[in-house]
Amino acid sequence: MSARVLSGKELAASIRSEATARAAELAAAGTPAKLAVVVATADESSAWYVRSIARAAEKSGIMCEIVDLGAEAEPALIRDRLASLSADDTVHGIILQTPLPQGARLEDLAGAIAFEKDVDGANPLSLGRLAAGLPAFAPATAEAVVAILDHHGIDLAGRHVAVVGRSTVVGKPAAHLLLDRNATVTICHSRTRDLAAITSTADVVVAAVGRAGLITAEHVRPGAVVVDVGTNPTEDGGLVGDVDAVAVADSAGALTPVPGGVGPVTTALLLRHTVHALRSSAGGGLGAVREAES
Ligand code: NAP
Repeated sequence: MSARVLSGKELAASIRSEATARAAELAAAGTPAKLAVVVATADESSAWYVRSIARAAEKSGIMCEIVDLGAEAEPALIRDRLASLSADDTVHGIILQTPLPQGARLEDLAGAIAFEKDVDGANPLSLGRLAAGLPAFAPATAEAVVAILDHHGIDLAGRHVAVVGRSTVVGKPAAHLLLDRNATVTICHSRTRDLAAITSTADVVVAAVGRAGLITAEHVRPGAVVVDVGTNPTEDGGLVGDVDAVAVADSAGALTPVPGGVGPVTTALLLRHTVHALRSSAGGGLGAVREAES
């Protein structure tokens, strides 16, 4: 058996095209959508990621301002900048890019992002609201996990999903979103004993760790669906996931590729969120915008 490939490219293209159409309507009505990405790192892969967001935004007719504060930026400067962007009516979405300078923590600083503009769900308020079932922006990567499963017709209700990784950016919010879809969720992490014994009982394994090849054949039961969130740079400039795709190809029922799986859907969702943030600021709030979309 060879695992079915769950590409994210087609889904990403459709989300981008919907965001492009909405952004054009809003611009025609006199309110062009704008995303601000605050950067305080010299990390190369982060710079590559930010450029790819900016390119995608511009292609969709969404303005994107990269606010580069430098790798030595003090937390207070980052917080002030997030607060001033939050107060700026021409900015509708704000992302605080990681990694951050030594001593600065995303969880501490992201509270300065206005909740309504928190398009990558970094403000702890967003995570809390998500957990409480209230309208909030989920971190785009976590939402991409569920979106890609939906797109490929994989039903989650009643299925056992093992999420490997418990970061506030991916693992925890993904677990909440999966719970909302009536999955039975187990969250695993670096202190989990006998990871393979747990993941190999799951119908769906979500790997969000950041360790190339961590998930091998022994972690995946035959026929299971595997979502690979990991993005690990290789020495030759490529990218691999957390899943050893060759090792699981014969047993897994389906697998998201890296690159071309969760990544493009994440970027597209950031654009959708920015448009939703603008529409929600125009009235009704996020809940109403989501309802109108569904
Ligand atoms: P993170 O903050 O470093 O969290 C990693 C998680 O993995 C932690 O919860 C950690 O457990 C757990 N872990 C570490 N080693 C483990 C092991 N041997 N067994 C089980 N769990 C282990 O990383 P992140 O920000 O969540 O990102 C995870 C991956 O997703 C990275 O590769 C990142 O590049 C990728 N990512 C991709 C996208 C995208 O758009 N595709 C976006 C964001 C992130 P503890 O909590 O116990 O330390």
